[in-house]
Amino acid sequence: MRIVGSLTFRRGGVMRTAHDKTFDVVIVGAGVTGGADAFILSRFTNARKIAVIEKNARAGQVNSNPLNNSQTSHDGGTETNYSLGHARKVQYAAKLLRSYIEARGDPELFRKTNRMVLGVGPDERKLLKERFSDFRADYPDLRFVERDELARIEPKIIEGRDPSEDVCALVSSEGYAVNYQRLAESFLADAKIDNPAREVFLGTEVTKIKRDSDWYEVALSSGEVLRARVVMFAAGAYSLFFAQQLGYGKGLGILSVAGSFYSAGQLLKGKVYRVQIEGMPFAAIHGDPDVLGDHETRFGPTTKPLPLMERHQYKTFFDYLKLPTTSIRGLMAIARIIRRKHLFWYGVRNVIYDFPVIGPWAFMQEVKKIIPTIRYRDLKLRRGAGGVRPQIVNLTTGELEMGESTIYGENGDRLIFNTTPSPGASVCLANAVRDVRKCIEYLGSGYRFNEDLFESEFGGDAKRGTERTPKA
Ligand SMILES: Cc1cc2nc3c(=O)[nH]c(=O)nc-3n(C[C@H](O)[C@H](O)[C@H](O)COP(=O)(O)OP(=O)(O)OC[C@H]3O[C@@H](n4cnc5c(N)ncnc54)[C@H](O)[C@@H]3O)c2cc1C
Repeated sequence: MRIVGSLTFRRGGVMRTAHDKTFDVVIVGAGVTGGADAFILSRFTNARKIAVIEKNARAGQVNSNPLNNSQTSHDGGTETNYSLGHARKVQYAAKLLRSYIEARGDPELFRKTNRMVLGVGPDERKLLKERFSDFRADYPDLRFVERDELARIEPKIIEGRDPSEDVCALVSSEGYAVNYQRLAESFLADAKIDNPAREVFLGTEVTKIKRDSDWYEVALSSGEVLRARVVMFAAGAYSLFFAQQLGYGKGLGILSVAGSFYSAGQLLKGKVYRVQIEGMPFAAIHGDPDVLGDHETRFGPTTKPLPLMERHQYKTFFDYLKLPTTSIRGLMAIARIIRRKHLFWYGVRNVIYDFPVIGPWAFMQEVKKIIPTIRYRDLKLRRGAGGVRPQIVNLTTGELEMGESTIYGENGDRLIFNTTPSPGASVCLANAVRDVRKCIEYLGSGYRFNEDLFESEFGGDAKRGTERTPKA
């Protein structure tokens, strides 16, 4: 990140600011979060002057790219680390997302599959049984499935497995594999239909933001300076980076957790998750068919600490160094988390998964828990794929904060910062609705959120959805 100097220059002897354009709202980042913000603003509010700034040449190339994430629409039903209360919140967000994608009718946007959590051994059986009884009223799509039925749904899970091994599963018929990059593009296209005035600046980076009385000056690497009344940061780890530049979130750090994926042949028909390891903050590896084509089953993601803001972008290391994570306080907080949660050897094992030769062998031991007949030669590390989850570390409490983190500007600051570890993509529309309401509050009189239209399209159980976006 290049921080440019003053945004002002001398024009006719008077210090003036170079404002190439003026907007109600500038959104930084065109991943699935920024795309959802643009869509919700355009469809349900009367704010028209909206700009989205994206440093890459195309939307959704970082964590929202299907090569880089697990492509799952999480809804809480099969995530054994979610309490019922938390799961219900995620379920609402999932319903919004699914109502949107179902209404698009785009076969490349998503695929519907089974999604399951596999239990192996009596302890996991007990856990899944209890979960089923607690969750079934809220999740009518869940079924408790025994070995015989499992063999019909996913034969490879049972093939070659010790007949005396106790296996069962909680299976949801509502499994969705989503191409979140395409979703980001779909949101931006719909935003354009609803609001032809919306602008997207691709291939240009926001380098600095500065407040100038009632406006924010947003400097771009192209040399342009935009003015905005509200700025929404949907820039992944960079949202927290900018927050800290602007005086917010100083007590937060980021533990960047990279996730790699392995490919194998066509082995699974749906998404197969494992029971969450007790006390472990990261999901165990799972297997699923690739949304980009079901000739491949992907296994992953691994969980490797990596001091980068964005995966494979090595220059982002220098920005990572600017976060308080690398201060003495930050490093001590991380050391405490690693010690308390017994993450040291877990981390080492996950680093090894990316090594040649020994990596696939070590990873195979994990995959065997899902596919007992998997062979060394079946597994290929997907080089260049996989993203980085920006896990938030609260430096005051020394705790890892799970889920996304949103910071709102205060005392007249009209800023929203959205940092999005997993499952940030699943909750992008719900977050956008929440943040756009805040944005309307910031914009003040004359601006409104059309609650009636929102209710008619996403209300109730959120199943109706926006059937089509009206043509301009
Ligand atoms: C291994 C892995 C597996 C995951 N699996 C799942 C899953 O199954 N389900 C799920 O819901 N979530 C999952 N996630 C999380 C999910 O991928 C992210 O939460 C989601 O993609 C975040 O979207 P975003 O738009 O906030 O961020 P991103 O997609 O990263 O987009 C941020 C955008 O901001 C842009 N940007 C950054 N700085 C600037 C700047 N200065 N100027 C202009 N543009 C800028 C970037 O170029 C980028 O396009 C996973 C993540 C990882 C890493």
